[in-house]
Amino acid sequence: MTSLETARSRNSELNCFLEIFDEGRYPASNGQLSGMSVAVKDVLALKDARLTCGSKFLEPFHSLYTATCVQRLMDAGASIVGKTNMDEFAMGSSNENSAYGPVLNPWDTTRVPGGSSGGSAVAAAIGACNVALGTDTGGSIRQPAAFCGVVGMKPTYGRISRYGLTAFASSFDTVGTFARTLEDTARALEVMSGFDEMDSTSARVPVEKYSEGLSRDVKGLRIGIPKEYFGEGIEPDVRRHIEEAKVKLQKAGCTLVDVSLPHTKYCIAVYYILTTAEASSNLARFDGIRYGRRAQGVTSLEDTYRKSRSEGFGREVKRRIMLGTYVLSSGYYDAYYTRAQKVRRLATQDFELAFQHCDALLTPTTPATAFKFGEKSSDPLAMYLNDIFTVGSNISGVPAMSVPVGLDSKGLPVGAQLITKQFDESTLFALAKEIMSNETLDNR
Ligand code: GLN
Repeated sequence: MTSLETARSRNSELNCFLEIFDEGRYPASNGQLSGMSVAVKDVLALKDARLTCGSKFLEPFHSLYTATCVQRLMDAGASIVGKTNMDEFAMGSSNENSAYGPVLNPWDTTRVPGGSSGGSAVAAAIGACNVALGTDTGGSIRQPAAFCGVVGMKPTYGRISRYGLTAFASSFDTVGTFARTLEDTARALEVMSGFDEMDSTSARVPVEKYSEGLSRDVKGLRIGIPKEYFGEGIEPDVRRHIEEAKVKLQKAGCTLVDVSLPHTKYCIAVYYILTTAEASSNLARFDGIRYGRRAQGVTSLEDTYRKSRSEGFGREVKRRIMLGTYVLSSGYYDAYYTRAQKVRRLATQDFELAFQHCDALLTPTTPATAFKFGEKSSDPLAMYLNDIFTVGSNISGVPAMSVPVGLDSKGLPVGAQLITKQFDESTLFALAKEIMSNETLDNR
C-alpha cells in the first residue's frame, strides 16, 4: 500500500488526519527527497489548504501562504499526504483537546496517542507517511513519539524556521519530525533546517549532514544520567528499558557519568507560567474580526470579542488564556512572570553546566507508557505533570530526541530521550542508532 492508501484506509478508525489530499494536489518536484511522503500537523500553513489548529475557531480559514519548513520539503521533492489532527492550538498531552475528536493510539485504541501532535505520531507509526511534521513547545513531539513507538525529533530552538507556524508560546515553539527511521528523520531535518529571513529567531548556524551522524562512532562519548530524572513515579518497565539502553551505550564504548539538573523540580511550574503568558498574548489575535470565526447577533465590539472567543475556544485553551492573563496582570507580574523568567535562566544554566561534564543526557521520555482515554482529562495538573521530562529542553532550547527502545508488559512502546547541547543534533543521531529497538516498527 502507498502512504496515501494507508492514510485513507486507516483514518476512519484512528482519526489521525483532518484532511487527506488527492494525489497531485500538492505536486512533488524532483529532488533529494523524491519519493518521501510527508504529513503536516494542522498548525503549519499550507497555501490554500484549511488551517484549523485543532480548533473550531479557525474552521473556515484557509492559509494564504506555505510555512517555510513545508515549502523546503516540497521544493526538495517530498509529496504532502494531508494535515494531521492535534490538541487545540497545541495545548495538551493526549489529543483529547482536539475540536475534531481524539486520535486513537494504534497500539491500543482505548489509549491516547499522546499530544499535542498525536495525529502526526500516529500517521508516522502506521506508515501513512514517511515523515510527519510536528511542533514541540513542551514535549508535543517527543511524548507522542514515545507513546506510538516512533522516532520524535525536537531540534534546537531556532534550527528550523517558525514562519507559517501558528504561535503558541513563541520562545518555546520548535518544529520537528516523527518517522519510523532515523534515516528519514535526518533527511527531512537537513532540508528544513537553516536560517530563514522570514523568522528572525531562526539561527544562522551552518546545517550539519545529520545523515552522516548516523555512521559516527560513539566510542568515548560521555553520557550524563541526570539524577532528578530517575526519581519516584517511573513505571518499572520504563525504568528497565532505560537501564538496558545504558548498557547498550556502555557496550558501544560510552562512559556513563552522574550529573545533576537541580532546578528540574521547578520546570513544570516555569513552563506553565511562561507558556500560558505567551499564549494569552499570541491568542489575542483571535478576536472574531481578523481570522476565522465571528459570532452572530453581536451588538458591540466588546460583544464581538467576548462571544467569538467564548464560542470558538475549547476549555483547555480558555484555561491557559486565563492563567496567562493572571500571571501577566500588574499585581502578579513580578511574583509569577518575572520570577519564572529568572528560574528559566537557572534551569538553562543547569544544562550548560551538565554539558561541561558530558556529551549527551539519557532519560526516559515519559514516566509511563500511553494512558487511557479519560484517565487524566478531568485533572489538568496530573496531565501537566506528565510533561516532567520533556519541558526542560524547551525551557533551555537544547535539542532532544525520543527513540523507541522496546515494549512494556502491556505491549505498549517505551521511549528513551537523548538530549545534547545546542546545535549538536548529529550526536543525537549517532547515539540513537545504538539504543533504538526495531520491536516497535512492525506495521501498526
Ligand atoms: N503537553 C504540553 C502542553 O500541554 C506540551 C504542548 C506542546 O509541546 N505543544 O503544553
